[in-house]
Amino acid sequence: MFVCEYCGRDVEYSIAESALRIYCSNACKQKAYRERKKRSNSDFDNVLMWKCGDCGQKQFVEPSSACEFCHGDNWQAVKLSGRADF
Ligand SMILES: [Zn+2]
Ligand SMILES: [Zn+2]
Repeated sequence: MFVCEYCGRDVEYSIAESALRIYCSNACKQKAYRERKKRSNSDFDNVLMWKCGDCGQKQFVEPSSACEFCHGDNWQAVKLSGRADF
């Protein structure tokens, strides 16, 4: 018995095909592969940062108050694609 990594279903399997089985079916295998690909793409391509429009200070979390450097609140959401450049 093993548990499908995608749908979590308990599956019986024979010793012969146990080696690389972590999904209950090819459908689950493909869906899991596609989801993993989608997730890693969005992680890398849409890193969201916040940038102070006045002094250029950057931070990862959404600012809840004025910039601690210039005390402005001109925050802008910035999308970084691929590598970070700061
Ligand atoms: Zn499955
Ligand atoms: Zn600032």
